Amino acid sequence: MAEEQRAILVDTTEAKEILAQRLRMQGYHVEVASDGADGGRLALSNPPAIVVADLWMPGISGVQLCRLLKAEPATQNVPVVLRGPEGARNRFWAERAGAAEYVVKGRMGDLVRAMSRAIKQSPASDDFFTELAAEGADIRDRIAVHLDAALFESVLASEVRALTMCGAFDRLFDLLSQFVSQVTSYRWLALSTPLPERFGIHTHPSTRTQNQQEARTALGLDEQARVIGVEDEDAFDDSAGPAAIVCPIRLGDTVIGKLAMATRTPQQERDPELVAIIARELAGPIRMATLVEETQRLATVDALTGLMNRRAFIPLLKTEILRSRRMSYPLSCILFDIDHFKGINDKHGHASGDAVLAAMGQLLNRNLRQVDLSARWGGEEFVVAFADADAEGGRIAAERLRQAVEALEVQTPEGDRVPVTASFGLTLLTEEDTVDTLVDHADRAMYHAKASGRNRVVSLSPDGTMVDMMVTAPSQ
Ligand code: GH3
Ligand code: MG
Ligand code: MG
Repeated sequence: MAEEQRAILVDTTEAKEILAQRLRMQGYHVEVASDGADGGRLALSNPPAIVVADLWMPGISGVQLCRLLKAEPATQNVPVVLRGPEGARNRFWAERAGAAEYVVKGRMGDLVRAMSRAIKQSPASDDFFTELAAEGADIRDRIAVHLDAALFESVLASEVRALTMCGAFDRLFDLLSQFVSQVTSYRWLALSTPLPERFGIHTHPSTRTQNQQEARTALGLDEQARVIGVEDEDAFDDSAGPAAIVCPIRLGDTVIGKLAMATRTPQQERDPELVAIIARELAGPIRMATLVEETQRLATVDALTGLMNRRAFIPLLKTEILRSRRMSYPLSCILFDIDHFKGINDKHGHASGDAVLAAMGQLLNRNLRQVDLSARWGGEEFVVAFADADAEGGRIAAERLRQAVEALEVQTPEGDRVPVTASFGLTLLTEEDTVDTLVDHADRAMYHAKASGRNRVVSLSPDGTMVDMMVTAPSQ
């Protein structure tokens, strides 16, 4: 060995001198420390080629010492070999602390080989840039600082991971902003995902517009991105501040989003680290929220028409019925069924039948108001609830739909127009109606419309026994 390599041996037992002697015989220049604090002080004041320490020692343990040395710039490249009892648990802790090697106590050959391997594999440290730790610094204080940092990180990580349970992106972002605004202070916090495109921003209400613009630029979003806004006084209304800290959110090799935070002046020292830790931990919760939302969408939206399915429609109609009673506004309901749809399938092919159904979904979206509820009730049957529409209002709305269906332009792959009409049953909500009776009345009216010639609207009077047919003659 051309030059003796300095090794610091930290050992609290009687055996330390014997071990030191044997390492000297291997060519190391060994300095002995009698406990972890002593070892830490020695290593920090003059970083050695290697540190050998016991995993479990009274006072400062090998795990704590190793974490300290890995966290300090002066010693971060100094390999640490930890020694202790046999067992997977001990190896686990040594590895987690950042030790280069773990060696079972009493195996001299293993220790010597591990030491030379660790030195060989350690990155060459550039002495010139090595920042030496301040003389006399209290090792216990330093360890406390590093443990605080580890605690800070693990608490942050576990808070963010808990968001996995929230089930929806909007809620995830709301909870995230509540939590981050407790940990630090900022002008705005924003989270975006490309697929599906989402943009959440937490801001003070008075600086909303300017902050949204700043966040869009920082996250590289265009003007179209729909905003999920959280606004309250937990975000500060400073008119300017440092440029936003932006971190990608990665799931494996894929970037699934970005987290950005616009801090205040002066920026808090730990803010960049905070954003990085949160961004790292957010991938799982975002993925989970996306999966839950997608599963819900698949369970409630009919794939062919893009309309709600029956299962999703029923609870919404139930709520609408309660609301209309409480607010005393009328509610009318129609059920309509495409005429001779079997014939369309037979004549033009199933694909053209599907195209008619898809066009029907678009037609409803185009012709209805936001407050109206519509769904694909079954095969070629559709249901619509018109909020705040009395018998006459319902009739006008139904008639408008009937005409729109009649005017529908659907073509076969060969370019032939597929003529489409539908028969409509209309009913008005009564005091006694439930979802079932309401739809049943509309269904009965619809059958009358079929029986009386199709392509028409028939209204069933809501007074139970008395059935009043009102026929809208199709335009010929
Ligand atoms: P009516 O005027 O009396 O309503 O006659 P219709 O032929 O429309 O009624 P029927 O109930 O006899 O036939 C409904 C047809 O709708 C039969 C079924 O194959 C078809 N259908 C149901 N769901 C779909 C679908 O998703 N795609 C296609 N292409 N056809 C469907
Ligand atoms: Mg039909
Ligand atoms: Mg039918």
